Amino acid sequence: MPQIVIRHDREKPVLQQHPWIFSGAIQEVRGNPAPASIVDVVSTKGHFLARGYWNPKSQIQVRILTWQDEPINDDWWRRMILQSLQSRVSLFSENAAFRAVNAESDWLPGLVVDRYADFLVLQALTLGIDQRKHDIARILHEVLPDVKGIYERSDIDVRGKEGLKPETGLLWGEEPPEYIQIQENNCQFLIDVRRGHKTGFYLDQSINRAIAESYVAKLNNLFERPLRILNLFSYTGGFAISVLNRRIASITCVDASRDALELAERNAELNLLAENTPELEFIQADVFQLLRDYADQGEKFDFIVCDPPKFAHNAGQVDKAARGYKDLNLHCFKLLNPGGRLMTFSCSGAISADLFQKIVFGALADSGRQGQIEQYLSAAPDHPVALTFPEGAYLKGLVVRVI
Ligand code: SAH
Repeated sequence: MPQIVIRHDREKPVLQQHPWIFSGAIQEVRGNPAPASIVDVVSTKGHFLARGYWNPKSQIQVRILTWQDEPINDDWWRRMILQSLQSRVSLFSENAAFRAVNAESDWLPGLVVDRYADFLVLQALTLGIDQRKHDIARILHEVLPDVKGIYERSDIDVRGKEGLKPETGLLWGEEPPEYIQIQENNCQFLIDVRRGHKTGFYLDQSINRAIAESYVAKLNNLFERPLRILNLFSYTGGFAISVLNRRIASITCVDASRDALELAERNAELNLLAENTPELEFIQADVFQLLRDYADQGEKFDFIVCDPPKFAHNAGQVDKAARGYKDLNLHCFKLLNPGGRLMTFSCSGAISADLFQKIVFGALADSGRQGQIEQYLSAAPDHPVALTFPEGAYLKGLVVRVI
């Protein structure tokens, strides 16, 4: 087995089970490993530390698969995939959608598997996974015999850092339909696994869509009048549809993508109430501009969800991203009626929860409003974060009540 010798002063993270080994931590490469092959990670004294897959083209040259001296074969992949699936057992139900494998945080670095009803969508983020994806697909349909097809959505930018090009298409079984209908929190959604963002849907927000629904129910009880709701960066309407009820006056979805809004409209139709459906608006606009227009027009809302895309892709973009988040949140605060709630998110891994809270505080202060955090939010439990891998905690959010 080829060996990767770790510099003595860089051993600690490996011993503490961090799954990444950067080029700078490597003292010597022995045995000329082929890209994607399995390598042993050893100390300068030659002691076994871990085993993983190798990619000299990536800054993360080894992703660790195990800290035990055990073979990495079909049995190993099957065992690890089953271990991940077992933690999601409670999520298996007809038409359910959830993340079945969450990469590093499920000790399967580089591998994402999402389930949408009868289909799986696989994302290979690294060379090590890319080269094994057909074997992984075979194991997935062996352990999940009710799955009809496995579709690949490896068209995510980070693959570039591994020297990989985007790849999409059927990996195994039946082609998924144009839209897969799934159920989440008593709502129906159509998922376009071929053209949708990520693998089709923002599954990480499922728990927060349920929490949004509970806040709207609470506001329904607190306020006499029907509520006005604003869903910023709505994508296919996930939050708007989750909070739908008869005591809402209007829900406005705003997104830059026409395709996303068209699907949001179709999703809304699937969930329409038998009577007194609120007024639903789907606006294609730049949120930053629209918020200014709303402020000029004196628009007010009772519940605003602000779930922007990732603003900071690395540490160098944090300052600029922070200004973007502050601007957004400032304008949201200005549009809230007294007693209204802002549910605000950042999915930038480079912005910590602590920093995000500070940014939102700055926005609140500038808006001249008074506010309190009612709830701290994070990704749904099917997106676990391995304690040894804090990088996995990218999604953070706050529910802020303003008076
Ligand atoms: N809340 C959504 C996910 C939002 S993803 C859900 O629960 O499903 C972010 C969305 O922001 C994408 O749909 C993208 O099209 C949109 N977007 C990005 N920049 C934008 C901008 N400046 N104005 C409006 N929409 C934008």
